[in-house]
Amino acid sequence: MTPTLFNGNARMVHGEAVELTLASLRAYWGRHPHVAVAWSGGKDSTAALTLIVHLIESGELPRPEILHVFYADTRQELPPIQLAAEQVMARLRERSWIKLTVVRAPLDKRFMVYILGRGVPPPNNNTLRWCTRQIKVDPMAEALGAAIADLDGTALMITGVREGESAVRDGRIAMSCSKDGAECGQGWYQQVLPDAKGVRGRIATLAPLLHWRVCTVWDWLKVFAPMPEFGGWPVAILADAYGGDDATEINARTGCIGCPLASQDTALEVIVQMPAWQHLAPLLELKPLYRWMRLPAQRHRKSGVERLKDGSIAKNPQRMGPLTLEARQSALTTILDIQDRARVDLINAEEEARIRELIAAGTFPQKWDGNEPRADAWLDAEYGDGTGQPILFRELVGA
Ligand code: SF4
Repeated sequence: MTPTLFNGNARMVHGEAVELTLASLRAYWGRHPHVAVAWSGGKDSTAALTLIVHLIESGELPRPEILHVFYADTRQELPPIQLAAEQVMARLRERSWIKLTVVRAPLDKRFMVYILGRGVPPPNNNTLRWCTRQIKVDPMAEALGAAIADLDGTALMITGVREGESAVRDGRIAMSCSKDGAECGQGWYQQVLPDAKGVRGRIATLAPLLHWRVCTVWDWLKVFAPMPEFGGWPVAILADAYGGDDATEINARTGCIGCPLASQDTALEVIVQMPAWQHLAPLLELKPLYRWMRLPAQRHRKSGVERLKDGSIAKNPQRMGPLTLEARQSALTTILDIQDRARVDLINAEEEARIRELIAAGTFPQKWDGNEPRADAWLDAEYGDGTGQPILFRELVGA
């Protein structure tokens, strides 16, 4: 008899959690002709993916004609996560009934090209959270739409969303970027994918690990999944990205290297303490670099009151905007040096060429042309009602 999680000695510490997962999968499995998994490469969705493949192969779930797996490659993942994902992909490709699609944002919308080529400042928590949707969710929705456009019927999309131990089932799932060691974007998949263009009404999402605790995830990834009888998945390395042996306690959140939205680079700080990953230490320089790029000296600013198309006045006069061409050039040189020293590939040759091309063409985001003053220049204040306030002590500030 093939061992499963429900017989023999292999019963998990949190066996009931897995039983509930199987029950939820069985309840929805037969209702949709197509099944797909949205996989970010992080621990939760990797656990969901590998467990489902095991449940299918051990006969606990009927094998679908095709299991679609969509892997979201942001090109900014931590190296242990990237490596584990590549190894898992190799194993998925061995199975003819699994169709793997690697999803990436179009070249001009990728993280580095958008910042350095187009000049949009690195994202932040307040006004400029453009990244998750652009580099993770939209490409996933598009790939999914393309995959089911020619098929009849509905699809069941499986995500690795976990509610976590303390999260309440409210808006926090959508913001799971920073909660309880969550993976950036996971809640977005749950919310956005069913309504994505072209697939509206044809996709139902299921989060079969919603009730899992983080220790259940690690039970599966570190103990069971690597065992041959459970698929022999090369996922133990994933634990490095979350704190090695202390992964459960550290419960690091992962996402892009140096994510400007996270207060600390916990995962990276832990990884570079490990002998196998010490060479990644230069990547710690990315977060301060992103902070430097958001400073006024590296950006342009609207010089006066800005009139919108309808004649009204923009809310935020003299607002700060895109990165200057010089700042972008300098940041590009720094990042290429960092990636060289860390022996990783944050900007590949194609992306570098495109960034240089866009800088050379003087590319700026809409409504900006690079003739605006630098944001650290002192300007007379202008208000929408026509009044203004000249700089006091002009000669002292040299304006
Ligand atoms: S990890 Fe950070 S930078 Fe990357 S998409 Fe998420 S919020 Fe944006």
